Amino acid sequence: MKIDAVRTHLLEHRLETAFESASMRFDRRQHLLVEVICDDGTVGWGECLGPARANRAVVETYASWLVGMDPLETEKIWAVLYNALRDQGQRGLTVTALSGIDVAVWDIKGKHFGVPVSTLLGGRFRDSVRAYATGAFKRDGVDRVTDNADEAARHADAGFHAMKIKIGFGHDEDMAVIRAVREAIGPDMRLMIDGNHGYDTVEAIRLGRAAVEFDIDWFEEPVTPEHLAAYREIRAKQPIPVAGGETWHSRWGMREPVETRAVDILQPDLCGCGGFTEMKRIADLAALHNIRVVPHVWGTAVQIAASLQFMAVMVPSPVRVNPVEPILEFDRTDNPFRQAVVTQSIEHEGGVVTIPNGPGLGIEINRDALRDFVSKEV
Ligand SMILES: [Mg+2]
Repeated sequence: MKIDAVRTHLLEHRLETAFESASMRFDRRQHLLVEVICDDGTVGWGECLGPARANRAVVETYASWLVGMDPLETEKIWAVLYNALRDQGQRGLTVTALSGIDVAVWDIKGKHFGVPVSTLLGGRFRDSVRAYATGAFKRDGVDRVTDNADEAARHADAGFHAMKIKIGFGHDEDMAVIRAVREAIGPDMRLMIDGNHGYDTVEAIRLGRAAVEFDIDWFEEPVTPEHLAAYREIRAKQPIPVAGGETWHSRWGMREPVETRAVDILQPDLCGCGGFTEMKRIADLAALHNIRVVPHVWGTAVQIAASLQFMAVMVPSPVRVNPVEPILEFDRTDNPFRQAVVTQSIEHEGGVVTIPNGPGLGIEINRDALRDFVSKEV
C-alpha cells in the first residue's frame, strides 16, 4: 500500500456578522482539509488548525516526501516529515500542517484494518463525552453584555453542562459580561473564561481575583503564549485554575509548560500539536506530571471526529467516585460548513456527543459541500 497523492481543500465562508476574540477578528470562516489518496483507492481525511493558505503551502511542500510512503507507517511518516523541515520548523505552521497529514494517515490506517482510530490507539474507555459550548465572542453591532448573556441562556436551555466565554477586552467590560452570564445560566452550570492572550500579567491577576466569586472553572490563555513565567506568576497570584496550550506545538513545545507547571489544564489541539502520533505523547507527558488535558477544538466535523477518537482513549482519572472525564470543546459560532462537510453531522444531544464508531475517524465526507464551500480566491 502506497500513498499516491495529497490534495488540499481550502473552505471558506464570509460571515454576515463578524466577531472577535481578544486576539483575532473573524469576518470569514476558513479551514483547510487534507485528503490523502492511496494506490488501492483508500482515502484519508485530516484538518489543519490555523491559517488555511499558509497550512496549504506547507502540506503541499510535505507532499513530495509523503507520496510513495506506506500510509500504515504513521510513526515513520511523522518522523520523515518532521525531520524534512526541522531546521526551520520546530514550531508553528510546519507542525499544524503535519498534524493534518498525520490525522489523514491514521484515518487510512483505521479504514485499512476496519476499526476506529480509537481501537488502534489502544481502546476506548467511553463511547460518548459531555461537550462544553464555546462561544460568546464580541460580535459587531450588538451590546456585548446582553448578547453574551442571551447566548449563554440558549446554551443552558440546550442542555450543556458547561460553557466558555471570551474575555480580554478590558477589566470592567469583562466583569460585566461574566456577571451577566453567570446570572443567565444560574449557579450550577460550569463556566470558563478565555482571555485569548488579551491581558498582561498585572491585569490578568486582577481579573482572576475579581472573577473567582462567579465560580470559574478555568482562566484560559491569560497572556501571550511565549510568556511561561507570566503563566506561572498568574497561577500563583490569583485563585482560578489556568489553562493553555492551543498554540504550543509538539512534545517539545509542551515540555516546559508541563514540567514547570505553567498551567493547571493543558489544551493541545489534535490538528495543531502534531496529530494523533504526537497527541498521544503529549497526553502521556501531561499524565506523568498529573496535569489535566482538555483538548482544544476549533474546526470542522473532521477535526471534531478526530478529537473524539482521541478522547475515547484518554485514561480516566483514578478517582473512584465521580472520576474526571474529558470534555469536548464544542464551537457554537457561525460556520455553515462545520457539519456540512460530513454526510452525518456530529451533533450534541442534551450536551452529550456520541463518538463515531466506524472505521478510521468514523465519518464520510460530503464532496458536494467541499465544492460548495471551496474558496473562490486562489
Ligand atoms: Mg482558547
